Amino acid sequence: MCGIIGIIGSENVSEELFIGMLNLQHRGQDAAGILTFKENFYIKKGLGLVERIFDKKNLEELPGEIGIGHNRYPTAGSAFSDTQPFFLTYPYGVGMAHNGNIINYLSLKNYLKEKKRRITYTDNDLEIMLNLFCDKLTTSRFSEEVIFKAVKEVFKKAKGGYSVIGVVGGKGLFAFKDPRGIRPLIMGEKIKDGKRSYAFASEDVVFNSLEYKVVRDLKAGEVVFIDKNLKIHSEVLTNSKEKPCMFEWVYLARPESVINGISVYKARLSLGKKLAKKLRGIKADLIIPVPDTSRTAALSLSEELGIPYREGLIKNRYIDRTFIMSSAQERENAVRLKLNVVYSEISGKDIIVVDDSIVRGTTSKNIIRLLKSSGARNVYFIATCPPLKYPCYYGIDFPSSSELIAFRKNEDEIKKEIRTDLLFYQDLKSLFAVLGKNICKACLDGSYPTDIKDAKIFEKERLRDRKCAKRIEYAKI
Ligand code: SF4
Repeated sequence: MCGIIGIIGSENVSEELFIGMLNLQHRGQDAAGILTFKENFYIKKGLGLVERIFDKKNLEELPGEIGIGHNRYPTAGSAFSDTQPFFLTYPYGVGMAHNGNIINYLSLKNYLKEKKRRITYTDNDLEIMLNLFCDKLTTSRFSEEVIFKAVKEVFKKAKGGYSVIGVVGGKGLFAFKDPRGIRPLIMGEKIKDGKRSYAFASEDVVFNSLEYKVVRDLKAGEVVFIDKNLKIHSEVLTNSKEKPCMFEWVYLARPESVINGISVYKARLSLGKKLAKKLRGIKADLIIPVPDTSRTAALSLSEELGIPYREGLIKNRYIDRTFIMSSAQERENAVRLKLNVVYSEISGKDIIVVDDSIVRGTTSKNIIRLLKSSGARNVYFIATCPPLKYPCYYGIDFPSSSELIAFRKNEDEIKKEIRTDLLFYQDLKSLFAVLGKNICKACLDGSYPTDIKDAKIFEKERLRDRKCAKRIEYAKI
């Protein structure tokens, strides 16, 4: 996942992008960048958190009333040169940022080289997207139709899940969602002192602090172009069924966000309620969440079962999200660095621990070990998401199947491996009841909503990238 944002029509574009990116920080902490346009492109990028990269002075050096920003979470590529936004100077000058992955990016890299005489200088799939787009933009007469045609070309060639925001120099701001609408993208509008501006972002949580009103989520396969006179042009270019990522509601998005009309907070409450039906009759002293994303589900589970909710694990907010870490050793250290136990609540108790998911099992095992060594009598582990068995090719760093504990083991074996006294997973039927059936759930059952012909090559490349990324993680710790 990554966070993306784009704004047109505001006199404070760089500042608004900065504030928006602070609100999207949960979607990627690895690097960030802002690109604006005023006669020329202006760009500032850096590694690490948004707040550390930008300050008043460098934001003032990003002029113009149009711009895009990106919070990076690495799933392909790993170096500073992969930090977004990217731009090409011809035609018109196009800047772009994306959230997601193109599965067949390596074969497209070859296609661009062999057939279009375009050389790419990174392994980032955004560069492929940008070149495919710009290749179709070359025409002497610019109109929104040219943008639509260029996006059609991207859809035809680039297989995967992606949301994109971009600037065409001197022309306007565009945004589009892949044909299955896997990654979220929402549009907002602000009218302040008679001046109108528009924004696109990964989550509507950014609109609140920027005083934008939600206009709507983009549809699957839709492109919206807002020209320099702030006229909106849009078209849905494909007719495939929408398949938004279920993991946005389970884990990724902020609880205040609403995606495709479904509140993330409400969805998590419902996931907790659904689990309560399975757990009815269970005896325990407390329910504790693994902070932060599981809190909401743990709260409703506690209400339904009548078992007290407590904060038994306290998170150090300044350590990166655990499953971003690249090696088992790093993840083990991270749990100890990241979570502290409230001994008075844990000691001598039977505890239900609620987490959003079990990926490799390492984090769950370490949490259970931590609670038991802190005096917990029994620990029952609950996942609000069904077992994750298959890799994600659409922007989430779920590794190859062999690294996913639920692919290798059945529930009894997982219970033994993570050393919990009881283990409960959410079931697929309950997930459907909360989010509807039109969701991407490929990591649960292998039913990928797009062509995955190049998936094996993609997986191999991603593992190679992760080895490079590991060096960066060590440097950070
Ligand atoms: S495979 Fe899983 S994580 Fe990836 S987009 Fe689909 S539901 Fe989301």
